[in-house]
Amino acid sequence: AGADDFISKPFNKTELMARVRSLLRLKFLHDELENKMEQLDEARKELQQLAITDGLTGLFNYRYFRSQLDHELERARRHNLELSLIMIDIDFFKSYNDTNGHPAGDVVLKIIADAVRENIRKIDIPCRYGGEEFILILPVTGKTAAVVVAEKIRDLIEKMPFKNQEKQPNGKLTISIGVATFPEDGATSNELVENVDANLYKAKQSGRNKVVAGS
Ligand code: GH3
Ligand code: MG
Ligand code: MG
Repeated sequence: AGADDFISKPFNKTELMARVRSLLRLKFLHDELENKMEQLDEARKELQQLAITDGLTGLFNYRYFRSQLDHELERARRHNLELSLIMIDIDFFKSYNDTNGHPAGDVVLKIIADAVRENIRKIDIPCRYGGEEFILILPVTGKTAAVVVAEKIRDLIEKMPFKNQEKQPNGKLTISIGVATFPEDGATSNELVENVDANLYKAKQSGRNKVVAGS
């Protein structure tokens, strides 16, 4: 087991006891240090998670989205893989807030965030892009498959019984969705974000509660 100290015979009882006490104290301090270091590591992990998480919805935040998009694009380029972006914006959300109050609007944001999270794969990266906008990174996903996911989420939200949704301008709470795919819709993260945003805009222009994926 190893040794930290020794005394030679014949030994003095007082000295022996003093040495034992001193080693016990050392052991106690050592254990305490180990404990504190474990606590520090836990706190560091929690802080790391907090730094990439949106407080209201629990989805990833904008900063994490940008870093992960670059990271996933790099991987897609290297391995010749497709990647899709899905951008979601709530329809007439200002009206919902005006009618029901901001806290009720926050509840809707959380419900939609949960629905998004529950309807994507483990490898997909769901983020809150801005106030009432979400963006999802779908690695290894072409346009056709991304549209299927987007349409599923759109349909799910349309059918959800949101409180007071009948007072919305279109009679229910809905979302509009844009889709863009690497490499066909852009080679860089900026181009892809511009394109997914443009498609979302088209979904709004063409009547809302729609998925637009471009060509
Ligand atoms: P459109 O169908 O064109 O998207 O209309 P809209 O009313 O949703 O669009 P607009 O951009 O005019 O309004 C967005 C609203 O989202 C306004 C803002 O008060 C609300 N919003 C943004 N962030 C939050 C939030 O964190 N909580 C709540 N409750 N509302 C938010
Ligand atoms: Mg918006
Ligand atoms: Mg909106």
